[in-house]
Amino acid sequence: MKKIALIFSLVLLALPVAAKEERVAGPDGRLVVTVSDEGGKPTYSVTYDGVAFVAPSPLGLKADIGDFTAGLALTGFAREAVADDYSVPTIKASTVHYRANRGVFSFAKDGKPAIDIIFQVSANDIAFRYKIYPPKPDTKVCVITEEATGYKFPDGTTSFLSPMMGPMSGFARTTPSYETDYRADEPLGKNGDGHGYVFPALFRNGNDGWVLLSETGVNGTYCGGRLIGNADGSYRLAFPMPEEIGGNGTSTVGLAIPGCTPWRTLTVARDLKPIVETTVAWDVVEPQYEASQVYEPSRGSWSWILKMDSNTTYPVQLQYIDFSAAMGWETILVDALWDTQIGRENMEKLAAYAKEKGVRLFVWYNSNGYWNDAPQGPRNIMNRSVTRRAEMAWLQKLGVKGIKVDFFGSDKQVMLQLYEDILVDANEYGLQCVFHGCTLPRGWERMYPNFASAEAVVASENLYFGQYRCDREAFSATLHPFIRNTVAAMDFGGSTLNKVYNPFNDTARRGSIRRTSDVFALATAVLFQSYVQHFAMTPENLTDAPAWAVDFMKEVPTKWDEVKFIDGYPGQFVVLARRAGDKWYYVGINASAESRTVEVDLPAGAYTLYSDTVEPATAKAARKLHGKKAPLTLEPRQTTAATFLGARESRTHKGGAVKVTIPCNGGFVIVQ
Ligand code: CA
Repeated sequence: MKKIALIFSLVLLALPVAAKEERVAGPDGRLVVTVSDEGGKPTYSVTYDGVAFVAPSPLGLKADIGDFTAGLALTGFAREAVADDYSVPTIKASTVHYRANRGVFSFAKDGKPAIDIIFQVSANDIAFRYKIYPPKPDTKVCVITEEATGYKFPDGTTSFLSPMMGPMSGFARTTPSYETDYRADEPLGKNGDGHGYVFPALFRNGNDGWVLLSETGVNGTYCGGRLIGNADGSYRLAFPMPEEIGGNGTSTVGLAIPGCTPWRTLTVARDLKPIVETTVAWDVVEPQYEASQVYEPSRGSWSWILKMDSNTTYPVQLQYIDFSAAMGWETILVDALWDTQIGRENMEKLAAYAKEKGVRLFVWYNSNGYWNDAPQGPRNIMNRSVTRRAEMAWLQKLGVKGIKVDFFGSDKQVMLQLYEDILVDANEYGLQCVFHGCTLPRGWERMYPNFASAEAVVASENLYFGQYRCDREAFSATLHPFIRNTVAAMDFGGSTLNKVYNPFNDTARRGSIRRTSDVFALATAVLFQSYVQHFAMTPENLTDAPAWAVDFMKEVPTKWDEVKFIDGYPGQFVVLARRAGDKWYYVGINASAESRTVEVDLPAGAYTLYSDTVEPATAKAARKLHGKKAPLTLEPRQTTAATFLGARESRTHKGGAVKVTIPCNGGFVIVQ
């Protein structure tokens, strides 16, 4: 009998173990994730309406307590419905109704529970994360050394990616800071500039649809990930570069177990509407603490963007306080070098003067630390609890509204902990936080109620720094609503009405020339979502810019209740609508060489239209420059010789489609 049993088990061992697979779909059944353990390796694949969007791709991770990428068996599966109705004032939609199905795929190794892979699938979004179990009861922690998490797309997929910057390079060794231009409609199989790509990452699945990759729920318990592009066209998730912040801090992750990794997200859609309207970055995360107070939205001005470092002075800041007051804006941002050029005593006077005018201050800090050479002060305050909290107590005493902390330069776990520590302390002192020179915020609006916005984009400063970025301003702006700005607030700091990027708005003096129209500037104030905005306008714009444009900027909100995608293609044009209360703002911009006529469905009623026409004499020159045909290639439009004649008009409408023509580098806004 014993012998027979032995022979029987030997036969069993010799047989290949049948792969097991389970699936979970979104509530309407169209988006489906299939998880398999074929060959002992966990994989997932994604279809939408039966069309493949992600081919079988690896899952799993390696840790010091075990290799959870191989030798695994799918031993359990549980499915449940998830519903969450929540409000976050700082995101694109103030109220969200999240409905999804959760599938928990349990994997065992050597007969013992090893990891769960938890997928949540809503109509167009997938979020997944790993839960790691202790191999022995007395194991409480682990070090995760790498993830197998990968993404393999069908043939013919193209990409819209921003290369990860190399470590400790760029201005004063402040990189990586997510400040590389997105490259549009590129074939797969590259690896950026050798360091992979940042999140978010957009992929076009031929004519079948789109996939947007990102991550969310990243806090001090993990690091930020990046994407490595393989030569075969697949991608894998990688941890930060060891050389970041001078090699200090690990690029691996320490995790208490049982414990979870952050969420990786995929937004999958046949058209671009779910890409622009997704809320997945906030759907699956939890508030990390309660707001100490109501954090209000705000608009403001800042001298730095057009007058640079030398004008962070007491008299110039007084002018900007008066300017914000004249605009009806709530704040000014006192940028770099106030510690030496204004001084603490004058900062107190400035805060008092601002208070009289009904304006509050945002105050800039260098984050360091030992991780950058940026000379701009104040330095070495925000990096340690002891100095940070004393400073924040002073800021609170002054009635300061928030801080802007710059120059972080790493996605390592130690740096993610610093972001979180700054936010936690700032909340205690009633301060909102804006980050610059920073990582992509990953779900932070919901996780941290005083988190307002972040850079992590080639922002307005680059329009000042060089003509190249001005020449491609419209091109870049048409990418953000589909990629960077759809997963997190984006502090672009734009909407300048200056013709030229210099303090004098004088085209005879040195400075990059703005190629875009004034209406384009107004449109981006709506297009770029950020609960706190500092617009690149100057006190001089009260007299040197068109009154209709200044009036619009006085009224434009920064808190939005809803967003609707209408039309567009990343790199060419975009038309969307945002709602604030009962008012809808319809906006569009065009980066294509030729004018584009778009249709916007409006309910009956009165509306105000801001639109561009091009001066006939210069229109001819512009056409000559661009050629007659609108090319389908996505090369940014270099320059325009056009002079725009922007205008505001009031109309009444009986309901139905309204046609608007947007010239190259122009825009439109309809307020109803
Ligand atoms: Ca920057």
